[in-house]
Amino acid sequence: MGSPITEEDVAFIRHLKALGILLPVDPTKPDYSNGITPVICADGDQRKDIEGHLEGLMRKAGCNERLHALKLNGGAASIALDDRMNPGDHKGQSFLMDIGGTSLPDVKGIRTVGLYGHWPCGLALLVGVSLEECFELLMRGETRVKDHYPDLPVDSYFHVDFGPSYKEFGKKRQKMTYFASHRAWRAWTAEKNRIRLPGENGAGSTMRIESDSVTTVIM
Ligand SMILES: [Zn+2]
Repeated sequence: MGSPITEEDVAFIRHLKALGILLPVDPTKPDYSNGITPVICADGDQRKDIEGHLEGLMRKAGCNERLHALKLNGGAASIALDDRMNPGDHKGQSFLMDIGGTSLPDVKGIRTVGLYGHWPCGLALLVGVSLEECFELLMRGETRVKDHYPDLPVDSYFHVDFGPSYKEFGKKRQKMTYFASHRAWRAWTAEKNRIRLPGENGAGSTMRIESDSVTTVIM
């Protein structure tokens, strides 16, 4: 059992949807014809919904439900360099190695990669990672996988469990999977950076962003 989602979390999810960052999943994309390598949090309470949704999409596309799931706590939000979700980069390196290995023709030849973050994530809550930070880590993980494997089709998705009171949040279903637009997220975070000049004391939260080469601060 994990912590329930908060009203602030739901408001943030709503905001991401309004910004076009969280979108309905397009059932015609990506190419599932040879299967997919989903990178998912090991969370057993969400497994059935996340994988069931994906299997449904594959069936709709007329493809075999060939899921080669890679799972560790935190899922794709543990790929980016981050001492909380990915201490020592052990998980990041494991995921990167297995994504590459699975794509090899002599192994599985599965080239389509789906990166899944989710909320509420027990690991994120345990190590003090907020929903916004968890989403940022998913986006950075996508960048990292694409940098390592520029020829592999890689997309991100975000699963949300609105809890048993989901109807109070205006939801028809308790659990939802969204497509996560990397481009829209980057555009929004760049705009936030532009508005708040470096050194300015903003009232919002501050997040340290580390990548392989640079360290910046997103306000
Ligand atoms: Zn999780």
